[in-house]
Amino acid sequence: MSQIGVELTDSAYVVVNMRIMARIGLPVFKEIDKGEKQVVPCIHSVGAPLAPGQADVPWPCNKEKYIVHFPEAREIWSYGSGYGGNALLGKKCFALRIASNIARDEGWMAEHMLILGVEDPHGEKTYVAAAFPSACGKTNFAMLIPPTHFKRKGWKVWTVGDDIAWIKPDANGRLRAINPEAGFFGVAPGTSMKTNPNAMLALAKNTIFTNVALTPDGGVWWEGMGLPPVECLDWQGKKWTPELAEGSGVKAAHPNARFTAPASQCPTIDPAWEDPTGVPISAIIFGGRRGTTMPLVYQAFNWSGGVYMGATMGSEMTAAAAGTLGKVRRDPMAMLPFCGYHMGDYFRHWITMQRKLSETPRVFNVNWFRRDTDGKFIWPGFGENMRILKWIVDRARGRGIAKETPIGWMPHYEDIDWTDLAFSKEQFENLQKVDRAAWRQEIIGHEELFLDLHDRLPKEMIYERELLICRM
Ligand code: GDP
Ligand code: MN
Repeated sequence: MSQIGVELTDSAYVVVNMRIMARIGLPVFKEIDKGEKQVVPCIHSVGAPLAPGQADVPWPCNKEKYIVHFPEAREIWSYGSGYGGNALLGKKCFALRIASNIARDEGWMAEHMLILGVEDPHGEKTYVAAAFPSACGKTNFAMLIPPTHFKRKGWKVWTVGDDIAWIKPDANGRLRAINPEAGFFGVAPGTSMKTNPNAMLALAKNTIFTNVALTPDGGVWWEGMGLPPVECLDWQGKKWTPELAEGSGVKAAHPNARFTAPASQCPTIDPAWEDPTGVPISAIIFGGRRGTTMPLVYQAFNWSGGVYMGATMGSEMTAAAAGTLGKVRRDPMAMLPFCGYHMGDYFRHWITMQRKLSETPRVFNVNWFRRDTDGKFIWPGFGENMRILKWIVDRARGRGIAKETPIGWMPHYEDIDWTDLAFSKEQFENLQKVDRAAWRQEIIGHEELFLDLHDRLPKEMIYERELLICRM
């Protein structure tokens, strides 16, 4: 399931990062020499040296930037930017934008999804893939650590990938997925031994840090890692102290500071993470940041309902202030910035995938981000998401109980294992509530998306919407 690309760049930063993010070197040249596989040529330049009057443009960026994809020729030209997604061309440019074109032509899928494996106490493993927009919890979910009670019983979560999945039907009509990347290019701020110990252990060595703070002993620091250093150099190389920050609000690390860590160093990396035939996918999960309307979890009635669920998913701007709360940006399958062709055709590709399958994965929607009237998250999230993941696995395995609602299948309170978590039936039902007035607005939002895509929209999307309206 692999694909081959060659990137030429004038940036040493890109070279050392790609060494971690991609599988490189002699084995790849041997594959190229066989001449059986197409090679995607990728060219990158950070651009011209700063000219007078461009001093406001921080190195290594050119004022003008062109990130250009040639889907027909399968080529990428990137000029003027050193930013990860624009410079590490194997990631979003190739593995999503170009690969989504190859996948459409060849009958597979290139998706903005994490892949994880859930091992139950009997050792049975179930793999799921999940599409959340950027900054909505993919890396955290992929490295989930189950609550103590689950761990004691023998539940484990294994990591296959945290950002991109290539998914293909096998000879038996089952979907199998690989992680086309070899490393994690994760957001550093907020990552700590408390929030994501697996990521912290993965980045403990052989790791590149971008735009973090540098401590006097040669270490790194970022907001949310733990106690700040007495003094350090901030991400721009200026002196930073907690006292200076208190007055000015200046952050030591850039909010989008990154770590580039080999995936093999993650303590929960799945033994099958580099299996060339991929891992079998039993469930697909969609999710975004929604302060209202969207329940914690529900399951689509069938594949086309699941495609509708993914096609209409949305997310709110992060740090949702009271005023912007409820402002939803539609981001179908979390692919709006990354799909390499028309979204209407992309939905059709999803729908027609069913014909290649003997069994379709079950499709779910989750929302860890519903807020109460004080603006606080209702759901504790992170490791506690294991409780929801277990129900998803039970459903995908055909043994979990659920009730029918207008939007899909939902767990009863009793269908979730609540051991060691004080979460009442009232709280749960509040999280799961389908508010008809809110859903009316939601469905109008779906229609706005469909109007934008109308000339290529598959009719299944219209029918699914009609059915949803009828059930509501
Ligand atoms: P990615 O960009 O999709 O990989 O997202 P990350 O895993 O890096 O997380 C983005 C942000 O969402 C971070 O600030 C996390 O702390 C936060 N986050 C992740 N999972 C949860 C969760 O279950 N609940 C809440 N409230 N926040 C979460
Ligand atoms: Mn991530």
